[in-house]
Amino acid sequence: MIVTLTAGAPVSTINAILAAATAAGCESRTFDDGHGGTVVGVAGSVSVADLPGISAVLENHRPYMLASREGRPHAPTVVKVGGVRIGGGRPVVIGGPCVIESRDSLLGAVRAMKAGGADMLRGGAFKPRTSPYAFQGLGEEGLRYLAEAREETGLPVVTEAMEPDHVDLVARYADMIQIGARNMANFPLLRRAGQAGKPVLLKRGFSATIEEWLMSAEYVLAHGNPDVVLCERGIRGFDTATRFMLDLTAVPLVKELSHLPIIVDPSHGTGRRSLVARMALAGLAAGADGLIIEAHPDPDRAICDASQTITPAELAGIVESGRVLYAALLAGSEVAVARQDPTSLVHQA
Ligand code: PEP
Ligand code: MN
Repeated sequence: MIVTLTAGAPVSTINAILAAATAAGCESRTFDDGHGGTVVGVAGSVSVADLPGISAVLENHRPYMLASREGRPHAPTVVKVGGVRIGGGRPVVIGGPCVIESRDSLLGAVRAMKAGGADMLRGGAFKPRTSPYAFQGLGEEGLRYLAEAREETGLPVVTEAMEPDHVDLVARYADMIQIGARNMANFPLLRRAGQAGKPVLLKRGFSATIEEWLMSAEYVLAHGNPDVVLCERGIRGFDTATRFMLDLTAVPLVKELSHLPIIVDPSHGTGRRSLVARMALAGLAAGADGLIIEAHPDPDRAICDASQTITPAELAGIVESGRVLYAALLAGSEVAVARQDPTSLVHQA
């Protein structure tokens, strides 16, 4: 059940609900409603009938009570990564190579990302490769280069942790921890990410339903980390013409179901560099809070995922077109608001 408290609700009410949950053998959590109030989620049902300061009780809610929009209907979460706000209105662009190849190539790439207008940097140090014989990443050495890239550019960095034991290491160097598609349902990893003290970028598993994905987000939230950003990166379709099928329906749907921000990865979602720009803009039109894009100064020579990697100049083009598109979406929303039409194309935090 989800119990929403009034602004001045006594602490004794919160404590009574938590105690009742414990007595009933149910897990419970408190979280903030985004307006300075408190919400208590109980994985089960307890009586709260006589307690003061309760404004609403929701019994039949979705199974991911912390990730659900039902607990925070009016306040989408804004995740702060360094100085960058994800979900705060203006979409963010995260750019960089698939894998960190060397110090020089990374620094060259990130300078170009910054010049092209990227808000954040990406680059894998621990890589989930399909083949055990493919380059697996530079590990901690790569994390050091990534931290250097952040120092030099001033842009926050995101990189993947593949194992629970890597989470603290990655959190020491990076500003945001990526959980990759292949690990979306790695529950020990999700639990550790919940305790990492750094924001988490949770990619959708390519065979995962939206509900499974949001339940994975729930793991991170339930283990103490409120800063989760979702990433739609394509699911397996029947057609091998593209590497994956970018499910842009997920973007507005997740916004209906959850208060968490969502970004789109048109690189893995298509596998083809010629499709990246259009699908990036389509993602923004669908309401995404940002994009994560693989870019490399010499895409043909990228060690990993060359076929979907674009140039820094192409990334700069997406940043520029994205700004124009976002301004148009905002204007469209203002028209909708003026017409008292509930359909808003972007949310404005
Ligand atoms: C990545 O972003 O580097 C990556 C491996 O993506 P995914 O987990 O979506 O395949
Ligand atoms: Mn990749």
